Amino acid sequence: MENSKLLELSSVIFPDLSDDDTIESLEAKFPERGLPEGSKVTRIAPSPTGSMHLGNLYGALADERVAHSSGNGVFMLRIEDTDDKREVEGAVEKIIKYLGGFGLTFDEGATADADFGEYGPYRQRQRAKFYHIVARKLLLDGRAYPCFCSEEDLENAHKAQEQAKDNFGYYGKYAIHRDMPIDEAIEKIKNGDKFVLRFKSMGDPSKKTPFKDSIKGNLEVPENDQDFVLLKSDGIPTYHLAHIVDDHFMRTTDVIRGEEWLSTLPWHLELWNACGFRRPRYCHTSQVLKFDEELGTKRKMSKRKDPECSLEFYYTTGYPKESVIEYLMTLLNSNYEQWRSANADKSYREFPFSTNKMSASGALFDLAKFNDISKNVVARMTAEQVYEGVAQWAQEYDKDFYSLVSKDPAYSTAIFAIGRGGKKPRKDIACWSEVKDFISYFFDELFAVNKDEYPAHISVDDRKAILSEYAQIYKTAADNNEWFETVKTLSEKHGFTSDMKAYKADPSAFKGSVADVSTVIRVAVTGRQNSPDLFAICNLLGEDRVKARIQAQA
Ligand code: GLU
Repeated sequence: MENSKLLELSSVIFPDLSDDDTIESLEAKFPERGLPEGSKVTRIAPSPTGSMHLGNLYGALADERVAHSSGNGVFMLRIEDTDDKREVEGAVEKIIKYLGGFGLTFDEGATADADFGEYGPYRQRQRAKFYHIVARKLLLDGRAYPCFCSEEDLENAHKAQEQAKDNFGYYGKYAIHRDMPIDEAIEKIKNGDKFVLRFKSMGDPSKKTPFKDSIKGNLEVPENDQDFVLLKSDGIPTYHLAHIVDDHFMRTTDVIRGEEWLSTLPWHLELWNACGFRRPRYCHTSQVLKFDEELGTKRKMSKRKDPECSLEFYYTTGYPKESVIEYLMTLLNSNYEQWRSANADKSYREFPFSTNKMSASGALFDLAKFNDISKNVVARMTAEQVYEGVAQWAQEYDKDFYSLVSKDPAYSTAIFAIGRGGKKPRKDIACWSEVKDFISYFFDELFAVNKDEYPAHISVDDRKAILSEYAQIYKTAADNNEWFETVKTLSEKHGFTSDMKAYKADPSAFKGSVADVSTVIRVAVTGRQNSPDLFAICNLLGEDRVKARIQAQA
């Protein structure tokens, strides 16, 4: 009797489902993947709002590494597009492009306008039937029921809870439609009354169950007693139902998601059981934090306050994608830096990534540290790679500089070769947008001398005398020694000693030292006091240009 009423209720709630639409048919359509032991299946599940921030990349990298560093793992892109009001056109394309730009590619999932993979569709809006099939099963099992409360009813309950100092939500005595006679519910639905489908919880929050999170470790989670919403009044599922249905039928093995979901984890644990599905592992990632100088404390990274929160920032500023990944790897796994120092030349992909080495308390983003890591990454690149990076960035973000730097690629590459390689490569470039300023003097179009750069303690007469003589005698030297010998001789001739010991012992005995003379020459040739090896710069500029620059300052 009850059973036939329940069947009637289910057919008024799900008129579109046929008898063939069963869990078993879905199980058959989306069977276990049969991957080699240890292979992990992960996914990211962004909403198509078009905004991608560092936290998304941080989470996505964890997913990608977990999948791809396990046997034959699979990394999927699922789009949580149930809230169409927030949807932005082209968002999926943007997600794929942005993550792809950082070297993260999906094995399965949504594409800009379709899908690829056997476990789709990968957009939630196209999976409505799956959610309804599972919701119907819960209803027939007595684990779901329609609730006809209006917004106002819920607000009133909330006020009553506030007064009684009770927990908020729909549970216990506040769950007023939980035991509504089935006949009455059928009638109301037939009558066109609006309703949502709620979960019927059997939990007791005074009881705790042990739970192992792959990141947070062993936790104790109270049982759930909330009759939370499974399907909204328009039949669209909530995240709670949708992610369980999707992760089950997509055969996700590891759900890696933000720790903001920990508070509703008890709901999810009870729902997995009620569905009778084997639950995947959960890995709750901590948030990316920043130290707020003003507040003097750590806080969540904010799109509004921190430009480096948006992924766009890394593109426009021209940080090599390897630097961003390298830094995120240090944030993701506490033993990554140690591994890197022992494996300087290996790809981050060779690092044995592990969720239990992820920070349980919060990953602190430090821009200075990031720049430092980026300098190390760029220092390990070849001159050709640096040229490629600079040219690609400039082509998009600084067209004038692009035409200069790409005019003679061999010349530009030779610029980046100075100070590169060897045991102690220069670590000066953190991002491509800095490069123009660093190398401007290699281009006559950008080269300029600011006279203030000349050391103030050298008289203008001495400076001019030094430069004018050097312009006469300058020749491309065979090596650094030969070059420096000439500068030393020149220095002595003008009263600047090349004996640094003698100079330190009694500076007043000389006009200055060979270091001052080198600086004068450096300023005349490069326009600045600090530069990479001057001999190498002069060689690359060529005798005529060096002479002309010195002469112009003499
Ligand atoms: N759309 C959800 C979010 O962005 C996905 C959470 C999950 O990965 O399960 O928080």
